[in-house]
Amino acid sequence: MEKLIELSVDSSIRVSNKVININKPEYVYIPILPSSKLLVKKGTNVKIGMPLINKGNDIITSPISGEITSIKKVITIKGEIDSIEIKNDFTEVTIKESKLKKNILNIKKEVLDKILDLFKVNLNNKKEIVLNCIDDEPYTLTESFYLFLEYANFLEVLDKLSDIYKVNVSIAVKASNNFSINELMNYLGMYSNIKLEIIPNLYLLGNNKLLLKHLGLEEINTEVIKASNFYHISNFIKKGRLKTDQLITISGNNIAKPSIIRVKIGTSLKEVFKNIKGLGNDSIFLGNGLMSGKEIDINNLVITNDLTSILVMKKETIEKAYKKEEKCLNCGACIDICPVGINPLLLKDKNYKEKNKCLKCGLCSYICPVYINFNYSDIEGDNND
Ligand code: SF4
Ligand code: SF4
Repeated sequence: MEKLIELSVDSSIRVSNKVININKPEYVYIPILPSSKLLVKKGTNVKIGMPLINKGNDIITSPISGEITSIKKVITIKGEIDSIEIKNDFTEVTIKESKLKKNILNIKKEVLDKILDLFKVNLNNKKEIVLNCIDDEPYTLTESFYLFLEYANFLEVLDKLSDIYKVNVSIAVKASNNFSINELMNYLGMYSNIKLEIIPNLYLLGNNKLLLKHLGLEEINTEVIKASNFYHISNFIKKGRLKTDQLITISGNNIAKPSIIRVKIGTSLKEVFKNIKGLGNDSIFLGNGLMSGKEIDINNLVITNDLTSILVMKKETIEKAYKKEEKCLNCGACIDICPVGINPLLLKDKNYKEKNKCLKCGLCSYICPVYINFNYSDIEGDNND
C-alpha cells in the first residue's frame, strides 16, 4: 500500500447540493488543438453537435447554436491557445439526434464499440469496469456530483455494458460521500452485477492507477472510467446527446454558498462569475484545487473539460500557507511521501529524468514543514489521471 494520507480540511466549507445552471453564455470559445483540422470558418452558422474540429479520431462539436465570429487566442487552465469564438443565437437548435436514442435495450456490440471509442474507452478483452467517482481535492465534489445527479442513468448503462462485454462493474465512491452512497444503496439491489466500493478518505485514491492498486485490480484487465467521462458516454448512448455541458465545483472559504454549477463547455469564467453571488473581498482564485491546482484570473479564463473546480480562497489563507518558506531542513519528508517514489528536491534539475513521472499531486509541498513550494504544476508529464 502507498503511503497515502488524509488531508486536514476546514469542515465549515460545505458544498450545497443544489446545482446552479449557467447555460446561456453569450459566447463560447472552443480551443483548436495543435495538429487538428478546422472544419468551420468565420461566418459559419453552427448547430449544437455540429463538428468543429477534427484531430485523428477526436471530433470536437459545438456546445451551442450560433455563428462563428472569429478565431482568437484565449487562456485555458493549460495555457494560451487559439480558439473558435461562437456567438450564441440562443435557439438551441441541435443537429439531427442520433437514432441511438431510446434504443439502449437492443443496442449492438459493434455500435457500442464505436461509441466508446469516441470517448477513448475500450472494453474488449477487459474483465472489469471501475467507475471512478472520487474527488481527491479538498472542497471539490465534481465527480461525486456526476454520480449523484445521474446514478439512475449510470446504473442502466453500466448494466448494459456488463451484459454485452461480460465484465464486472464496480462504482468507487469516497467514504465521505454520504449522499451518493445512500442513493446508490437504494438502487443497487436491482443490479446484482454492480458493486459499490467505498474508498477511504486518503488523498490520491482518485488517481486511476492508485485506485486500481488499492482495489487489487490489474491495469491490463480493467477499464477505469471517470464519472465526468461516463456522463457524456451515458448521455450519448441513452439520449444521442453529444458533449455540451459540464459540472464545476465553485467553493472555498471566501464564497458564501459553495456549490456546483452546470455550464456550457467553452464559457468564459467572466460570464460565470456574473451569476455567482456572495464573493468575499481579497480573494485568490485557484483552478483545479488546493493541492494540484494553480492561481487563475477569473476575468481571463475559458472553461475546458480539464477544469473541474474553482476555489475562492481568502488571500490571507493562501499567504499563510506559503509565506514561511525557509531553507530546506533535509528532513526527507517530501521524498518519503511522494506516491511515485521520485525525489521532489530534484524537480528543478533539468537533467532529472524521473521528473516526468510526477503526478503534480502537491503532496511534497503539503508535507514540507518549512513550506517549500516545488512548482510541480510547471512540470511536463502525467497529471492525476
Ligand atoms: S507533486 Fe510530484 S514530486 Fe511532489 S509528491 Fe506529487 S508526484 Fe511526488
Ligand atoms: S520536506 Fe521540505 S524541509 Fe524536508 S527535505 Fe523536503 S523540502 Fe526539505
